[in-house]
Amino acid sequence: HAKVADHAKIQRYTVELGEAEKERRRLEEELRVAIAAGELTLHYQPQFRLPHQQLSGCEALVRWHNPRRGLISPATFIPLAEESALIVDLGYWVMERACRQALEWDFVGRNLGMSVNVSAHQFEQPDFVERVRTILHTTGFPGEHLILELTESLVLRDISQAQRHVNDLHTHAIRIAIDDFGTGYSSLNMLAQLPFEHLKIDRSFVRDLTAQEAYAEPSRARVLMRGITGLAHSLQLKVIAEGVETDEQLSLLQELGCDKVQGYLLGRPVPPEEAAVWLERVQA
Ligand code: C2E
Ligand code: MG
Ligand code: MG
Ligand code: MG
Repeated sequence: HAKVADHAKIQRYTVELGEAEKERRRLEEELRVAIAAGELTLHYQPQFRLPHQQLSGCEALVRWHNPRRGLISPATFIPLAEESALIVDLGYWVMERACRQALEWDFVGRNLGMSVNVSAHQFEQPDFVERVRTILHTTGFPGEHLILELTESLVLRDISQAQRHVNDLHTHAIRIAIDDFGTGYSSLNMLAQLPFEHLKIDRSFVRDLTAQEAYAEPSRARVLMRGITGLAHSLQLKVIAEGVETDEQLSLLQELGCDKVQGYLLGRPVPPEEAAVWLERVQA
């Protein structure tokens, strides 16, 4: 009798797996259409320089408004897009859109930087730098105001190509930030091999600075953060903390030597109309 029940369980499980896979493919197909149909938009989240909290720029974060499903989080569809060549088109679409927006907002005159996320698959394209250059050329946006955020897990798959790309980006004055720093397993290796400009500390570290959970020890997290900022500064890198949600985190980060901050405390990612409002306010 137990065997029959087990068998039924396995069958149900297989059916569910098949459903999940079908749903995944359906979503991927819809995303393909969405890119063409203009269902993607960008939200912008401000970044500030410490200690005076001057605006230093913002990060472009993609959003998908699906007419049937509503707003879909990038945490859901970026990994999906990464499984196919879709991420490449999506990535260049985001970059061009963000550059145009930054020009429109006079990032050049205001001396602000636009940060754009780049995924592994996109960065690994042999013509990556060529395409970034084309975007700068067609939009007229200067490379000095563009910052590319790369997640650390990606870059070391082909270290010599990564080094070539980074050097070529530097010849266009484009700066590079390592996103979610500390969550991969190759952090120090990357620091040793590639000359970046920014380390972006993952928000899990920021959270641990003031954590109440039993498993986290705030004092250790603070020692770690101080060590990372010290290390970064000796390598001439700027440190930016993401996911800053409380005043306590903000003042700790400042004390621990962090150069820039980004997080809900200082500003959530918002659509361009709203971002234009805080840009005006900051300017005034
Ligand atoms: P990320 O690049 O590390 O971006 C930071 C994420 O943290 C964003 O989530 C942002 O909304 C969120 N965040 C910002 N401040 C806070 C805070 O104070 N607390 C908390 N809890 N979260 C905060 P979002 O927009 O959902 O994006 C998630 C991830 O999706 C991004 O992580 C990035 O890896 C990816 N992504 C977003 N847009 C793009 C894109 O255009 N291209 C690529 N390749 N990836 C993207
Ligand atoms: Mg990012
Ligand atoms: Mg990040
Ligand atoms: Mg992150």
